[in-house]
Amino acid sequence: MKCPRDGAELAVVRVEGIELDKCHHCDGLWFDAGELDRVRELDRSGVEEQIEQQYGSPTVAAGEVDGYMRCPRCDNGRLQQFTYTYNNRVRIDRCNECMGVWVDDSELDAIIGENQQLEKIADTSAIKAFMRAAGAIFGRN
Ligand SMILES: [Zn+2]
Ligand SMILES: [Zn+2]
Repeated sequence: MKCPRDGAELAVVRVEGIELDKCHHCDGLWFDAGELDRVRELDRSGVEEQIEQQYGSPTVAAGEVDGYMRCPRCDNGRLQQFTYTYNNRVRIDRCNECMGVWVDDSELDAIIGENQQLEKIADTSAIKAFMRAAGAIFGRN
């Protein structure tokens, strides 16, 4: 599989048993259909950093691209840009054939980060109640 952005060969990386394809040239990541949601559900920040630490960042030369963002998985798939999230307006590229998703460098953490932001909003009242209780117990100033 080749990077849709620069044509470099993608390398297989694993996050918590989920297999992804990473471009070591531009640091983008390819998710097959459903994988992005699985990674998102891990609800863990610094996933990109984790991959970097585990697999390093070998220098990989760019290949040839013709200007179109083509799906690395299927021959005819064309990647279409759309906004994945509401809060951070992260733009990702999805294949209209296999529904796989291309995520550029540092966008993954924004996607996962938003998940946590949303949870924070949902939990705000619970956290406030907890902090009040903790403050009463531990003498928080
Ligand atoms: Zn690339
Ligand atoms: Zn595809």
